Amino acid sequence: MSSDSRSRIYLSPPHIGSAERDFVTEAFDSNWIAPLGPNVDAFEDEIAEYANAASAVALSSGTAGLHLALLLAGVEPGDLVFGSDLTFVASANAVVYVGGEPAFIDSERTSWNLDPDLLAEELRRRAGSGQRLPAAVVVVHVFGQPANMGPILEICSEYGIPVIEDAAEALGATYEGRSVGTLGLLGVFSFNGNKIITTSGGGMLVTADQDLAARARKLATQAREDAPHYEHAEVGYNYRMSNVLAGIGRGQLRVLDERIAVRRRIFDYYMKHLGDLPGIRFMPEAPWGQHTRWLTTLLIDPDEFGSDREQVRLGLEQQNVEARPVWKPMHMQPVFDSCACVGGSVCEELFELGLCLPSGSAMSHTDLERVVGAVRAACPAVLA
Ligand SMILES: *Cc1c(COP(=O)(O)O)cnc(C)c1O
Repeated sequence: MSSDSRSRIYLSPPHIGSAERDFVTEAFDSNWIAPLGPNVDAFEDEIAEYANAASAVALSSGTAGLHLALLLAGVEPGDLVFGSDLTFVASANAVVYVGGEPAFIDSERTSWNLDPDLLAEELRRRAGSGQRLPAAVVVVHVFGQPANMGPILEICSEYGIPVIEDAAEALGATYEGRSVGTLGLLGVFSFNGNKIITTSGGGMLVTADQDLAARARKLATQAREDAPHYEHAEVGYNYRMSNVLAGIGRGQLRVLDERIAVRRRIFDYYMKHLGDLPGIRFMPEAPWGQHTRWLTTLLIDPDEFGSDREQVRLGLEQQNVEARPVWKPMHMQPVFDSCACVGGSVCEELFELGLCLPSGSAMSHTDLERVVGAVRAACPAVLA
C-alpha cells in the first residue's frame, strides 16, 4: 500500500498570523525575553477581557493551570475528585499530582460532556449513604462544546463542592452567552500547539476571585514571598509563561473570533458533504451555547456505513490525512483502572465510533475536498 505523496493534512496544526511576529520582535528588541514582562501582563488582561473574567494568570501549560486550580480549590491528599470521563488525560493527571483520587462521570449524548443527571444522582446517593463526597468536580468542555454548566453548578453548590472548568479545548465557546472557564470557581485554557490558538505551549487560569488569582501567581513563581531575598514559606512551582510566548498569544488572540468562524465553516462543509452517508452522525451542538468546533467529530456506525471507524481512519491515513479516534475514556485507561466510574457506556460508544477530522483553520478548499473524498471512498455504499 503506497501512501499518498500529496502533502500531509494534519488534524489541527498551528495557524500563525501576522501580528504574532510584531509582539515577539518587540520582546526581542526590548531584551524582554523572560521571565514575565509586558506581553505577559497584556496577554492576561486581554484574555480576561475576552472571556469577561476578573483575573487571568498566564502559565506554562494548561496542565499547570489544572494543577494549580485543584490546589486553590483546596483539594488535599486522599480527597476524591470527580471529573469528565471523556477527556484528554491531563485533567485526570492533575488530580493525581495533588494526591487526589480521580473518579469519572460518563457523558450525556446532547453535548458529549459530563452528564449532570448522573452527577446529581451520584452525589445524592453518596450523601444519602454517608459516603464521602468529592472535594472538587473538574468539568471538561470537550472538542469546543460547552458542558451543561447550569445544572452542574446547581447540584455542586447544593453540596458546597467547588467546580473547576477544564476549558483547554474550548476557548471562545459560550454557555448562555458567557465564556466557558468563567462559570465555575476557576477555569483553565490551553495554548498548546493543537488548540484553537497557540503560544506553542502555554495555559491560562481565569477566576472571578482576585485573591485566588494572586495565590495562583505566587504558587506559579516558586511561592516566593515578598522580600528582597528569596524567602519561601511553602512549596511552589515554576509555572509562569515567558514574555516571548505571551507575545505569540497576543497576536493569536486578535484573530481568535475569525478562527472560530473558520472552524465552524469547516464543520458545515463536512456536514454538507458527508451528512448524506449512511451511518454518519456528527457531534451535536448543544442548545445552551456556542460550540467552537475546535475539532469536527463524527460517529461512524459500522453496520450502516459498511466499514468501521478504524478502517476509515486508516483509509484517511493512506491518503496522507491525519484523523484521530475520539478521546479514549479515562475509565478505560490502564493508568486509571482502579478508579471509580459512574456509568461509562456513552463514552465507550463515543470512543468506539468517534473520529476527529482535520479541522485546522488554515485548511484550503482542496484539503477539505481531499478529506471528504477519502471518507467517502471508505464507505462501501458509495463505491457500490
Ligand atoms: C490540551 C488539554 C489539556 C492540557 O493542556 P496543555 O496546555 O497541553 O497542558 C488539558 N485538558 C484538555 C481537555 C486538553 O485538551
